[in-house]
Amino acid sequence: MPPLVDPFARAISYLRVSVTDRCDFRCTYCMTEHMTFLPKADLLTLEELDRLCSAFVASGVQKLRITGGEPLVRKGIMTFFRAMSRHLASGALKELTLTTNGSQLAKYATELAECGIKRINVSLDTLDPTKFAEITRWGRLPQVLDGIKAAQAAGMKVKINAVALKGFNEDELFPLVDWCADQGHDLTFIEVMPMGEMGDIQRIDQYWSLKDLRARLETRFTLTDLAERSGGPARYVRLNETGQKVGFITPLTHNFCESCNRVRLTCTGELYMCLGQEDMADLRAPLRASADDAALHAAIRAAIARKPKGHDFDYSRQGVGGQMTRHMSHTGG
Ligand code: SAM
Repeated sequence: MPPLVDPFARAISYLRVSVTDRCDFRCTYCMTEHMTFLPKADLLTLEELDRLCSAFVASGVQKLRITGGEPLVRKGIMTFFRAMSRHLASGALKELTLTTNGSQLAKYATELAECGIKRINVSLDTLDPTKFAEITRWGRLPQVLDGIKAAQAAGMKVKINAVALKGFNEDELFPLVDWCADQGHDLTFIEVMPMGEMGDIQRIDQYWSLKDLRARLETRFTLTDLAERSGGPARYVRLNETGQKVGFITPLTHNFCESCNRVRLTCTGELYMCLGQEDMADLRAPLRASADDAALHAAIRAAIARKPKGHDFDYSRQGVGGQMTRHMSHTGG
């Protein structure tokens, strides 16, 4: 099957897949405390997720990132990871990975490693147990730290993703950097996007620009910009003094579009071709219409042919309540 190439000659090699909208945490910048989740019938089954991901792999996708919601709370999810590992074994897929809040890692780390997962992203905004409970509402820090240890013990490399939150983890910049150096984790900061429900806290009060964060890092470290790009919204530096790699994800900038190699699939089978645009293609209908994959492949190709050149976030374009839509949150590279 010919590879997927968009109208701007970018080969699509990276698929990010949300396998559930459910989560066992309620991070204040992401979800309201009392969420209404999608009816089960709307969700792709594990078999449908397999068919869809396999269709992308057959069309040249080499990297698959599983996310959510919290991917590890989806019932039977290890069946799906095991199924996807056959594409690693065949060599068609180069990397299978996930982004997780870490709560279930102690339970699943060994199995994930057995499926060929070598690196995982764990979201962790603070190392203070009280602040952790506050920001995640339902999360408990020791459980996540145990999960991270289990992942390392199983041989997986852990990258920590921390959302930069003004007045919340500003004072933890150096403790987080030092802890990651000590534990051997890479670290990436994410600029907060206007989503979720923050109650009385004004959104603008939470915005801590990564430009400012970087300037603060420079008061203690010498930063060397790294050329390496992931095709997504992350840029990386090396801290000369420790050799650590630190990433910056600024989803609201659009300086990464030229090298964009990715598309994202929601748990209901909607394919978003661009992080910052609403256009999407429904892949669930062709998937459910026929047991044969021909219509599915045609729908995927038609969608990729619509991938826009780039995006430019415009806050006036935000959805209800001044919030961006949920699929946009899934940035953490
Ligand atoms: N549950 C998994 C996790 O915690 O990593 C995967 C899904 S979560 C939505 C993916 C990433 O998006 C996390 O790193 C989270 O912190 C980040 N995120 C969620 N809402 C965000 C927002 N409003 N601005 C920036 N990042 C956000």
